[in-house]
Amino acid sequence: MKLDFSGSNGPSSYTPPYVKTKAIKAAAKGHEAEIARAVGIHWRGRDHICCPYPDHDDNNPSWRLMASGLAICTCCEGGRIRFSMWS
Ligand SMILES: [Zn+2]
Repeated sequence: MKLDFSGSNGPSSYTPPYVKTKAIKAAAKGHEAEIARAVGIHWRGRDHICCPYPDHDDNNPSWRLMASGLAICTCCEGGRIRFSMWS
């Protein structure tokens, strides 16, 4: 997949590169576990781990990453909470 950096002003003036959300989601699809590990989440690919969200107080490992790319934790009140990795 080729990413579109056309929104950038080039190297002479610093502007953070812009990638359309749709394009980065497509590029990340299927690589969620690698990306999670790259940002410091110790996902082993199975079993639950302690929730990596800093505002979640997880006393029992309750976080997991589904094959679909959805991350699920059940550490908060209100039962099952689902998060997309990318929202
Ligand atoms: Zn949580």
